[in-house]
Amino acid sequence: MPKLANDLSLTKNTRLNSLGPSKIRAFDEKASQIPGIIKLTIGEPDLNTPDHVKDAAIADIKANDSHYAPQAGKPELLEAISNYLDRSLDVKYDSKTEICVTVGATGALNDVFMSILNPGDKILVPTPVWALYFQLIKLTGAIPVQIDTSKDDFILTPEHLETVLQNEGKGAKAIILTDPSNPTGRVYPAATLKALAEVITKYHLFSVTDEIYGELVYDNNVHHSLSQYIPERNILISGLSKAYAMTGWRLGYIAAPADIMKTIQKVNAFLVTSVTDNVQAAAIDALNNGQADPLEARKIYEDRLEFMKTGLEKLGFEMSTPQGAFYIFAKIPDTFGTDDEAFANELATKAKVGVTPGRYFGKGGQGYVRMSYASSTEQLQEALKRIAKFVENI
Ligand code: PMP
Repeated sequence: MPKLANDLSLTKNTRLNSLGPSKIRAFDEKASQIPGIIKLTIGEPDLNTPDHVKDAAIADIKANDSHYAPQAGKPELLEAISNYLDRSLDVKYDSKTEICVTVGATGALNDVFMSILNPGDKILVPTPVWALYFQLIKLTGAIPVQIDTSKDDFILTPEHLETVLQNEGKGAKAIILTDPSNPTGRVYPAATLKALAEVITKYHLFSVTDEIYGELVYDNNVHHSLSQYIPERNILISGLSKAYAMTGWRLGYIAAPADIMKTIQKVNAFLVTSVTDNVQAAAIDALNNGQADPLEARKIYEDRLEFMKTGLEKLGFEMSTPQGAFYIFAKIPDTFGTDDEAFANELATKAKVGVTPGRYFGKGGQGYVRMSYASSTEQLQEALKRIAKFVENI
């Protein structure tokens, strides 16, 4: 096995030095070693990709669609995304100039951060939040400024945003909003988004909305987008990973005004050339012929949420009402104070249930744990039983 030359070992990209591996993944890997553990740790749908979507990809491969695709995406897919956004959010994006197909929502985030952030730029990140944002932002040399939303039920208020913009976030260039939220499951009401849009405009910010869980909202909640209020400054990110159970296909997209989209498409082309042909064919089928699929997924997750939420509340767990995505962000029992790591460790080793410590999601997450209910109903039933037994004995 080759060993890196001594004279090269100190010349790696130094920006990476401060970036550890994902704590969420590391905790999950540790928990996975425990025999018989039920993992509620990872944001991965247990549902399968619909058959008609798989068939579309297979047909595409058989038809020898195996050459470079247009760099921003196949025209038919761009059209399907444009129609989908119009249908679901009533927002209008031109398929030729305002949309880009990406390698998952993660690829979209990378393209966007690289397109708008210079080293030293500040970008506001309401927390707790999906922690990969921090790493991707830091890779560009920009600075994530955390806004702890835990005092407001994990919803950023316009007043809080304005205060931050006059203090630690002064001069910020952008804000990223995850709605529905991973890890809290919270959903922004239209009125709050509208009020946030006014502050964002007043302070001349770009807004980036991560709407990867947009289809997964429950109990009469409706998903809205800043693109409905400030399309001239919003960059919308979404994809097929969650609602279509297609995490492994790696298909995401970005919609934004043509002026910034030109740059985004350029960056995307630099980084990936184009997204895999048969994955794009599958996505065309999912968006054009799979309108019932996200609704079905939504129903399944809604039932599971109801089951888990009711069960946990009966055991004394407190939480801000989860309204979307597939996570519950619950306060840990008082016995553990705010030591969510200790609680998660004990729950894993003693009760064999894996949950993720809240502190891994940034400021305001301490004292909470994230539980994913993207597991089968049987697994959730068993997990709840084990949690009940654990809680009785502390
Ligand atoms: N954004 C959020 C908020 C997520 O939770 C995830 C996945 N955990 C992603 C983006 C990544 O999505 P994708 O798999 O499409 O890259």
